Amino acid sequence: GKKAGRDRFVPFDESLHSNTREQLLYEELKNALSTKKEFTLVYQPKVELNHFLIDQAEVLMRWNHPTIGNISPSEFIPVAERSGLIQELTAWLLEAACIQLKEWKKENFFIQKIAINLSASHFQYEGANTMIRNILNRVNVDPHELKLEFEVTETSIIENIQRSIYMLEELKEMGITIALDDFGTGLSSLTYLKNLPIDTLKIDQSFISGLPGTEKDEAILETIIQLAKRLGMNVVAEGIQTVGQHSLLKKMGCHYGQGYFYSEPVRASELNKMKILSSIQ
Ligand code: C2E
Ligand code: CA
Ligand code: CA
Ligand code: CA
Repeated sequence: GKKAGRDRFVPFDESLHSNTREQLLYEELKNALSTKKEFTLVYQPKVELNHFLIDQAEVLMRWNHPTIGNISPSEFIPVAERSGLIQELTAWLLEAACIQLKEWKKENFFIQKIAINLSASHFQYEGANTMIRNILNRVNVDPHELKLEFEVTETSIIENIQRSIYMLEELKEMGITIALDDFGTGLSSLTYLKNLPIDTLKIDQSFISGLPGTEKDEAILETIIQLAKRLGMNVVAEGIQTVGQHSLLKKMGCHYGQGYFYSEPVRASELNKMKILSSIQ
């Protein structure tokens, strides 16, 4: 029966192994979505580099399965995308994040803006923006007042550029700002920077991990930062892990930094402790 099949293992067949894992995760994801008890949101601060001030955070999803344990989003998000469960997952995440944002606003908390990752398949769903609009209406959040940013990757946009631009414009009309995530890792074309309605550029951590690097590396990085600024965008550097990287990016004029050097992604309740960091001038 089904149960026996699940427990049996055929270690020499890699494709069968990964299919089994995918099937397992799919079933478990469906279960988890029916209760939502295994998911948590964590928040990673974005630090304004000039004043060492925190006023933004990115939401990242965590899944703690009762028997499998922690499953990385890098593993379960693609499963959710391939199976279509991602829509429901994003809907739940957006609603939970909006409720948190409203609470923080009421408490006058130092984090004023939340960024949410949109899945790579978002722009392929006909009703994806309507779903977002409905959630915002239901929880009574107007992003013109409560700042909400969506992080999208180049790869998700390139699939169908015209349609993506149209959908991004719709989101912007709702008051949502857009960040281009993992910049520099896709088939980046500078043309996209000109044509896409992007507010924020997030430079991928692979550009940061080599810092301080060669003069060439640093010249490229500094040029990306200057270009983004000339185009009127906010620039965020991801994956900052050392004080040297922090200082260099600050010197290069990068607006924001994110990474383990400042903080790992943490529960909402733990963000309170960073209030002191957030008020250091
Ligand atoms: P991402 O959006 O590029 O998020 C950054 C990832 O880098 C996060 O991993 C974060 O924990 C990690 N990170 C942060 N600072 C550092 C650092 O200093 N060094 C290093 N090495 N890593 C750092 P995480 O949380 O495991 O998420 C991985 C990816 O999964 C994310 O990449 C994003 O693409 C996706 N993801 C996570 N949560 C969600 C979600 O709620 N929805 C969607 N659609 N995707 C999500
Ligand atoms: Ca992101
Ligand atoms: Ca990223
Ligand atoms: Ca990434």
